[in-house]
Amino acid sequence: MAARHDQTADPALLDALLQGRRGTAFFARKLNELTDAELDGGTLLPGWTRRHVVAHVGYNARAIARLIEWAATGVETPMYSSPEARNHEIEFGATLSPIALRHLFDHSAVHLNVEWRDLPADAWHHKVKTAQGRTVPAEETVWMRTREVWMHAVDLDNGATFNDIPAPVLERLLGDITGAWRTRGTDTALLIKVERTIAGSGLTFGDTSAADPTIITGPLAAVVEWAAGRGTGGVTASGPGAAGGTLPAPPKWI
Ligand code: ZN
Repeated sequence: MAARHDQTADPALLDALLQGRRGTAFFARKLNELTDAELDGGTLLPGWTRRHVVAHVGYNARAIARLIEWAATGVETPMYSSPEARNHEIEFGATLSPIALRHLFDHSAVHLNVEWRDLPADAWHHKVKTAQGRTVPAEETVWMRTREVWMHAVDLDNGATFNDIPAPVLERLLGDITGAWRTRGTDTALLIKVERTIAGSGLTFGDTSAADPTIITGPLAAVVEWAAGRGTGGVTASGPGAAGGTLPAPPKWI
């Protein structure tokens, strides 16, 4: 019989799993607060209704579960057969009945959790490939999922905010976003300063080598919300890219 507890004993990985499971529970709570009719409403993502977001989060869990099966068996099973197949699946999922959509989210989340739970400790180091073609150890899937559930709970646009997302998740997310900018070379002379919080000192992200950068400043949650293209509240800008105090649009992230 399969074990009923995680097979890994790595404290960092167990901590990461906890963060992912909390995010899933948070998304579930926001979804459960919506009536069936409200699923037709809009989100923070252009062109996507709440139906699209729920379908995407459900299929994302299934896709990540395929990576865990890959790590467990050594049989290559990609997240999606193609980007078109991924998009088609979301468009189809958005047409499901409310009850089917809710089941998709619930069942896929439970399935992924079981796959994670039962993955042998050493298999967490096995290499798998993300939808973007990056080769990563299976443990990276925990962060991939964590990021999705916390952010898309905000995208549902029924009350969740970036302030609900735990600070360690926000910090890593900001690292991902600014890292993507750097890879593309779109972060030139853009410096992001996170204001000092009670928990610790201030943080700096972005192009730290620029002589005269445009500086975006604000509390962690507000800065991440801006960087992710989800809103502009609570941040201020200064420097050459902020003429007249206007806040520049963030470079594209995904
Ligand atoms: Zn997503």
